[in-house]
Amino acid sequence: MSIAVVVLGQASVPVARRIVDALPNAVLYGLEHRTTGVDRTFTQFGETVRELFSRGTAIVGICAAGILIRTVAPLLNNKWKEPAVIAIAEDGSAVVPLLGGLQGVNDLAREIATVLETVPAITTTGDIRFRTALLLPPNGYQLLNPDDAKTFLADLLAGETVKIEGSAPWLENSQLPIAEDARLTIKVTEQAIEGGSDCLVYQVISTQRLAIIGTGPGSAEWMSPQVREVLRSSTDWIGYQTYLNLVEPLRTTQQIHVFDNREELERAALALNLAAEGRSVVMVSSGDPGIYAMAAAVFEVLERENKPEWSAIDIQVCPGISAMQAAAAQVGAPLGHDFCAISLSDILKPWETIADRICAAAQADFAIAFYNPISKTRTWQLEKAKHLLLNYRTSDTPIVLARNLGRPGQQTQVKRLGDLSIEDADMRTVILIGSSKTRSIPRSDGGVWVYTPRRYDS
Ligand code: SAH
Repeated sequence: MSIAVVVLGQASVPVARRIVDALPNAVLYGLEHRTTGVDRTFTQFGETVRELFSRGTAIVGICAAGILIRTVAPLLNNKWKEPAVIAIAEDGSAVVPLLGGLQGVNDLAREIATVLETVPAITTTGDIRFRTALLLPPNGYQLLNPDDAKTFLADLLAGETVKIEGSAPWLENSQLPIAEDARLTIKVTEQAIEGGSDCLVYQVISTQRLAIIGTGPGSAEWMSPQVREVLRSSTDWIGYQTYLNLVEPLRTTQQIHVFDNREELERAALALNLAAEGRSVVMVSSGDPGIYAMAAAVFEVLERENKPEWSAIDIQVCPGISAMQAAAAQVGAPLGHDFCAISLSDILKPWETIADRICAAAQADFAIAFYNPISKTRTWQLEKAKHLLLNYRTSDTPIVLARNLGRPGQQTQVKRLGDLSIEDADMRTVILIGSSKTRSIPRSDGGVWVYTPRRYDS
């Protein structure tokens, strides 16, 4: 879990530093002009804390509990998803877990209290009574029916007993009221079986797992059942905020780890490390994960760093509908014969290579899908690409510009290559360029169908 230790004044920095030094993945945030020797500065306390909170970052505030409570209060709507929030007294004498019981706040509070040589103020009844967080099983186990856990725990707290089927030392060593003839059951199994309000199911993650999935371009109906299942039965999701937003409606107890720009290799290593610890990790890409996306980044890191602890990880790539397929489907069958995809981004390959490929593909008369046609800082490539193409294709060649497929603002236009202008595209547009055989034919609603015939008579 990423942890932000947040301080408002210099007096809190020493205590904060002790905490940050003791915890992996912790960063010290200090108020600008009021603190020195911190890792990152901020100017707006409320905005900063709310932003971190909504990204799933655990928050440790060296400040009054009330300040933290009021700051995050407007965001509280789902206790399964809320990250840990802990208030700490400026002199380190009190450690008060406030929120995030289901994301491990009590364990984090215990860890911090140990560092500060104090006792955490743990108030969660279930946690005290049973000394085991049924809701937060250790690495290697996944609670499959968290929605049933509330009633289940309430019944236990009201005095019911429970029987355990399957083997789980962490449950047997707990203070759960175990009895053979109990109505309530806990099942520990390798299968993803159904639970219920009288039966909690913990799936054993026998091999450690990393699934690299593609959500499709956006809308839910374009996401495969396999991808939904993998998301459901996992413990951690990693990805860009935009992609995590696409799958957020499916989230129950999963911890999220948000990418910042261009941190791909670092995140791939994080995913592998989490999987090696026994977590069930999902790396989320949009479209297909193997097309200009994270699957290749994971394998790059795997090969380059070649860590022995990663060798047992069960890596699975789950395909998704790529932008070019969704775009083609909007207008007919423009990729009906041989085609290729070219990314116009020159961040990872030089423009000369891109230009050579455009010419070669045009010369070979492939239909072409252009990914990454434009970005805020990259605006000239598309115009250049058009001029290169016009050396081989007529300006009447049909092209398809598809923006925000499956997302709000979806828009598809069919144009002539000669009329392509950079205003037609942005970083969420995929462009299909017809081959010399690609045709557009009228459709009954006044628009056109675009297709490339399967027969190719030179
Ligand atoms: N893995 C993705 C591609 C990621 S590269 C896939 O298979 O679709 C990012 C580029 O993909 C964008 O610049 C754009 O060209 C295209 N793209 C991704 N999502 C899109 C969408 N919803 N609508 C249109 N184009 C999209």
